[in-house]
Formats: sequence, structure tokens, C-alpha cells
Amino acid sequence: MIATRANIETVSFYVDGAWEKPEGRATQRVTNPATGEVLAEVPFANSADVDRAVRGAHAAFLKWRAVPVVDRVQVLYRYKDLLERHAGEVAATLTRENGKTLDDARAEVRRMIQMVEVACGMPSLMMGDSLNDIASGIDCKTIRQPIGVCAGITPFNFPAMVPMWMHPFAIACGNSFVLKPSEKVPLTPTMAVELLHEAGLPAGVLNLIHGGKEAVDALLSHPLVKAVSFVGSTPVARYIYSTASAHGKRVQALGGAKNHLVVMPDADMPKTVEAIIGSAFGAAGERCLAGSVLVPVGEAAGALLDLLVKRTESLAVGDGSRPGTEMGPLVTSDHSQRVESYVEKGVAEGATPLVDGRTRKAPSEGFFLGPTIFDHVTPEMTIAREEIFGPVLSVIRVNSLDDAIDLVNRSPFGNATSIFTTSGKAAREYSSRVEVGMVGVNVGVAAPMAFFPFAGWKNSFFGDLHAHGKDAVAFYTEQKVIMSRWF
Ligand code: NAD
Repeated sequence: MIATRANIETVSFYVDGAWEKPEGRATQRVTNPATGEVLAEVPFANSADVDRAVRGAHAAFLKWRAVPVVDRVQVLYRYKDLLERHAGEVAATLTRENGKTLDDARAEVRRMIQMVEVACGMPSLMMGDSLNDIASGIDCKTIRQPIGVCAGITPFNFPAMVPMWMHPFAIACGNSFVLKPSEKVPLTPTMAVELLHEAGLPAGVLNLIHGGKEAVDALLSHPLVKAVSFVGSTPVARYIYSTASAHGKRVQALGGAKNHLVVMPDADMPKTVEAIIGSAFGAAGERCLAGSVLVPVGEAAGALLDLLVKRTESLAVGDGSRPGTEMGPLVTSDHSQRVESYVEKGVAEGATPLVDGRTRKAPSEGFFLGPTIFDHVTPEMTIAREEIFGPVLSVIRVNSLDDAIDLVNRSPFGNATSIFTTSGKAAREYSSRVEVGMVGVNVGVAAPMAFFPFAGWKNSFFGDLHAHGKDAVAFYTEQKVIMSRWF
């Protein structure tokens, strides 16, 4: 069942516990980025589809919230077991529709499962506080209650993991959920929802619809949707935050990034180079945590750039499903052309290409672009300011740690950053002074685990409560304080 559904021609909606193939909707092709092969067609939900899904979710919520949390998480335990058993198939589908290497896909599936594991702890995570005799004979306690129908809108780059930042936490808290994943990669979320269905989740607690702006707008304004979780680019995150808040909803909207990797002269260069390669070119740079600006401090540039250029030139670029591939294609032809246009802009604005990804030999089918490194980039250049979301690394040389901190803090984004150094003092100062949500010290991809919160600052995040960890419990519940006196 699992393997065949991934091969269907038209992707289904999952509404009120049933798989539906909607007729007469606009559709978009889903392609394998490594070969250009069409894998499926995805139907675009209209506002009537969304209304049906939300109403079904609301009816399910009224029953699901009354199920004890210890029973709710039993479904998630079974789900985790099914995900473990089907991890290989999920990873293969992820590589097929997104293009990332199988190693990256397997790592993503591992993170996906960890989200479910943490949500299984909801009986402890949802506990409130209590204190007897806050006044004579009066006891006080706090409880957390689910809020209703929650909606999730997710990006193309982590179709297995990012939906899991949302719905396992939301449903473990007693809410119901409507998921609208990226229309570019609907097959992986479909497999995940099939497994949750198989785990015995009651009808309507989780619903899956596909589509674009019309579906999203219908979710943002629907009176029965109480909370919206979004992950995607900054312009859309800003729009989601303002529109959904204006409709009275609780919102967390995670946006784009421009992440700086600062290298001090005392860093362990060979290890630092491996970390930079993973950060800048892993998942072809299509990560919100990807390092896209390298900031060597003082003398660091010489040894670092020599090693980095050699290693980048040796990166194995190709079909992510082939063993040994280190970097796969970009997700679509349009996106590949957009990234290439940034490389052209870098050259036109006077940066020095140390490695030019356009000249890299790669399979002729598919949406490949090799890794690019630009030296002598200035903070004003387009490639230094805008999120490229591809394998392009800009080098901005600075003289001191203070200059590096100043550069990072002038960026309108604040998602993630890393410092590479053997000095505890430099690492501590950097971590404390940068205006960034997630900081790595000798770690190239500063990705918090499921039990910690995940989000950036500034234009990388709109909202208050971050994704997963304890923040997710607060986001998906309403807190109540009860004071009791018994005569
Ligand atoms: P995107 O913003 O284009 O799309 C994200 C989702 O929003 C999709 O489901 C899409 O259908 C929907 N959408 C797109 N345009 C819309 C519009 N005008 N109105 C309403 N909905 C709309 O993002 P993407 O290209 O899928 O993903 C890449 C982006 O996501 C990058 O900017 C990346 O940095 C960001 N991202 C951020 C994080 C994070 O944790 N901050 C994590 C992953 C990805």
C-alpha cells in the first residue's frame, strides 16, 4: 500500500479519515529533480475543500479533546513504530521528489521520528503547576487545554520533518489539524499521513490538503481555525503572520535566512572545512540553516580558503539516490535558474568566483548546479544580502571578531550562525552578542533537537512561541488557572 500510493498519478486529499481524489481542480506536476521525470500531479484545493477539511477537523476535535492524553499518545507510539519500519521507503520517496541525497533523506527521517518520540511525552509535557493553601483553604492549579483546529503550511525543503514540528505536538495536546504541505513535494507527507492513518488516528483528527495561495488564504481566514503554524520564505511568513493575526488566530511563522559562518584564525581548519562544506552545500544549500556567508577573521582566510576550494572542487554532484553522491540537484528547474541568476549577479557586481558552479559537469537531465564560492564579497552586494537557497557561498573578509559580530547583526535575518574557534572566550562572546536565534560553536548546522525550541530572530521569525520542544506545547494549548475552596 505504501509503495503504490507514492506512484499514483494524482495525489489525494485526506479529509475526515478518507482519501479523496478531487475532480476538476487545477493541478501541478511533481518532478524528480535528478531526472526531470514526472512523478505525480498534485491537485490544488479550493476554499470549499478547505472548509470541508476544517469542519471535519472541528467535529473530530470535539471528541478527540475528551480522549485522555495517555490514550492519545498511544496512537503516536504506534506511529513511531510504523515510521521506523517504513523509514527506508520514506527516505527514498523524499530523495525522489526533493532531490537531496539518500544520506540527507535518512537523517531527515530520523529527525522526523524524533519529533514523534518527544510528542509521546505529552502526559508529562502538558502538566501544570499546583499549590495548596494559596490562601487559607484555597488551592490553586494551572491546566493546559487544547485550542481547537490548528493549521500547518510547510515548505519544500524538509517535507518529512517540518510537518512533524507541528501536528504530532498539536494532536498529542488534543487538537485536530489541517496540513497543507508544499505543492512541490506532496508525496512524502502523503506517506507519513498514510502511516498515521494506519496507526489508528481517529477520522478527522489530521487532514491533508494540497494546493497554493487559495488554500492557504482559506485556512488563514476560516473562523474555526484557531492557530496557524507556517514555515517558508520571509515574504510569505510575514504575510501569514499579519493575515492570520488579523483574523484573531495564534500564529508562529518561521521565515528565510542568511546565515553567517565566522572562522577565527585559531580554528581547527580541516574540521572547520568539513563543517562548512556540510553547511553550505549539504541539501544543495536548500536549508534554512545553510551557511551562505563565510566570514574569515584576520589571518584565517589563507589556509581556510585553500582547503575549502580543493574540497569543494572534489564534491560529488549527481543523483541523490546513487551511493557516493554528496550533493544532489535543486528542487525545480525554475529554482535552479533563479540560483544561477544569483551567480551571474555575483560576477556582475564584482565578486571573485573561486569555484563557479555553472562550469561543473553534472548529469544533463535534472536541475543541477554545482557549488559556487565567491571571494571578496562586500556586504552591499546582492549575493551577500538576499537568501539564495542554493549552493552559493559568499566570502566576506573581516579584521576582528567585533567586525564579524557587527556584520552579522546588520543582517535583517537572524536564523542561525556558527563560529569556529578553539577559544572559549571568543565563542562565548560571539554566542552572547549575536542577534540570531540558533548559534553553533564548531557546529556548521545549528539544528536544535526535537526537545529544544527551533526558530530564528528578526525577519526569520514572526510570532512568539517557537517550533517544537516545550514551546510547541505552549503554542498548541491554552492555559487556565483554577482556584478552589471547598466548604
Ligand atoms: P515558500 O514560502 O515559497 O512556500 C512555503 C509554503 O507557503 C508552501 O506550502 C506554499 O504553498 C505556501 N505559499 C507560497 N506562496 C504563498 C503565498 N503567496 N500565499 C500563501 N501561501 C503561499 O517557501 P519554499 O520555497 O517552499 O521553502 C523555502 C523557504 O523556506 C526558504 O526561504 C527557507 O529559508 C524557508 N525555511 C525556513 C525554515 C525555518 O525554520 N525558518 C525551515 C525551512 C525552510
